Amino acid sequence: MADAMIRMICPNLRCKAILSVPQTARGKSVMCKQCGMKIKIPAGAPAAGGGKKAS
Ligand SMILES: [Zn+2]
Repeated sequence: MADAMIRMICPNLRCKAILSVPQTARGKSVMCKQCGMKIKIPAGAPAAGGGKKAS
């Protein structure tokens, strides 16, 4: 159920690595494997099939 991954692009313009982080990393920070930059994973990361706005 919860093994879908979130795909993020490293915000470091010199890196831009595509990182796959587990859903469980939402709201936490991960480190880019390529450049070592800390990336905050937003709790509401964009997932496939947006359209519903929950608040
Ligand atoms: Zn990076």
